[in-house]
Amino acid sequence: MRSHDYRRFVTAFDRLTPAQIEDARTRLGDARRRREALAEIEARTKRERNCPFCAGDRRQRWGRTRTGVQRYRCEGCQRTWSGRTGSAIRGIHRPDLFLAAARDMLGDRKPLSVRKLAGRLGLDKHTVWRWRMLIQRALSGASDAAFVGVVEADEAFQRESRKGSREWVRHFRDPRAWPAPPRRRWHEYRHRGVLTMRGLSRWQLPILTLTDRSGARRLERIPDRRDSTICQTLRQVMAADAVLCSDGLSGYAAYARQHRIDHFVVGSKPGTRMASPTHHIQNANALHARLKGFIAPFRGPASRYLDGYLQWFIARDRGVDPVAVLRAL
Ligand SMILES: [Zn+2]
Repeated sequence: MRSHDYRRFVTAFDRLTPAQIEDARTRLGDARRRREALAEIEARTKRERNCPFCAGDRRQRWGRTRTGVQRYRCEGCQRTWSGRTGSAIRGIHRPDLFLAAARDMLGDRKPLSVRKLAGRLGLDKHTVWRWRMLIQRALSGASDAAFVGVVEADEAFQRESRKGSREWVRHFRDPRAWPAPPRRRWHEYRHRGVLTMRGLSRWQLPILTLTDRSGARRLERIPDRRDSTICQTLRQVMAADAVLCSDGLSGYAAYARQHRIDHFVVGSKPGTRMASPTHHIQNANALHARLKGFIAPFRGPASRYLDGYLQWFIARDRGVDPVAVLRAL
């Protein structure tokens, strides 16, 4: 707005009724969030000035997109682009709401359900779900990849879940065309809360957890708990002179032997939970407890999305800035 118009706009404030003041406040809040999101998108074209099509470095301003983002035109190839061209958020017309969804995912409060968040933002629930998946992918590097000093290792488990799958429905409708899925449904393993069927443990997906005293943390789904799997996973992230604390699963001992590092085994019974005041796995255990609290409301997310949920949890746990996520996209 031109400064002359702005001055006239401000003098009109005195004529507002109390209800109009409230309404204006809400609208200003919306406008601020929208500006903020646009500024982040435009920051990209300030960093990368060259044309994304021909890499030419002569450009001119070329109006704004429907979303309100500054558009440019290349003087070489005559094509136009904006800060969203070629990015993962190119199809999103309300970057301000997208940022609000990222804030909900990464804020201090518990994330809302997809349905509730969609209602609050005035969006379709499928849109919010797609955005969450997009943000989860952007968070895929949230786990640390280097562990030094005293490193704690432990495993957490998550039930295999085929949420959203139609396998059983199809099987009941036509058992000959659709054989029964390999796993029974979870409720069938219990009768009145008591475990009555065997073979349940192989459907628990192991998650390797690592923490160190500098605050590094990692959650990684592993295919099994074999020695070779554990060794290979540790090899990629452990410093050569690290010290390992674990619950004594044989894979950890094998890794410590191979790499000639100190290994402290911690018991699971009271009084044996610390090998020494510095050698314990209480940070890893605390991380597990927080993971459990985070994942419970999702009621067993489908296993094919589990990795995304794990990295989402880590990003929340370490306080990743939602604006940084938008920028990364
Ligand atoms: Zn060009």
